Amino acid sequence: MSKSSYRGRFAPSPTGLLHAGSLSTAVGSYLEARSRGGQWLLRMEDLDPPREMPGAADAILRTLEAFGFEWDGEVVYQSRRHDLYREALRQLIASGHAYACCCTRKEIAATARRGLDGYVYPGTCRKGCPDGREGRAWRLRVEDGEWTTH
Ligand SMILES: [Zn+2]
Repeated sequence: MSKSSYRGRFAPSPTGLLHAGSLSTAVGSYLEARSRGGQWLLRMEDLDPPREMPGAADAILRTLEAFGFEWDGEVVYQSRRHDLYREALRQLIASGHAYACCCTRKEIAATARRGLDGYVYPGTCRKGCPDGREGRAWRLRVEDGEWTTH
């Protein structure tokens, strides 16, 4: 029997203990992955230290174990992967798939239209920042829209 390439993922933030909503998300992704014969991976979204609760990451893992979840491979901690993320960003910039944006949130709010999920970046810096301004964020170059990371 061939192993499915499907990969389900659960990515809790260790800002507190696992609550019912997160647990139900975990159940959904777990069952989806297992029903497809795929892997179920865990990624700890520990990139916001001021909001994290000490011990929460371990408590989340113990809770998942107590409910019988079995994940594949090692738990990935995002805070330990900065070098990988930096390299991926470097490649996106080098290939032209990411570009610097120098807009402030205020400037974007003044010129952007509102979408379902907030402002839609109007592409102001798509061809480069104006002289004398420096990038504050990276944006992905896509055909029909823009996403950003800060
Ligand atoms: Zn911009």
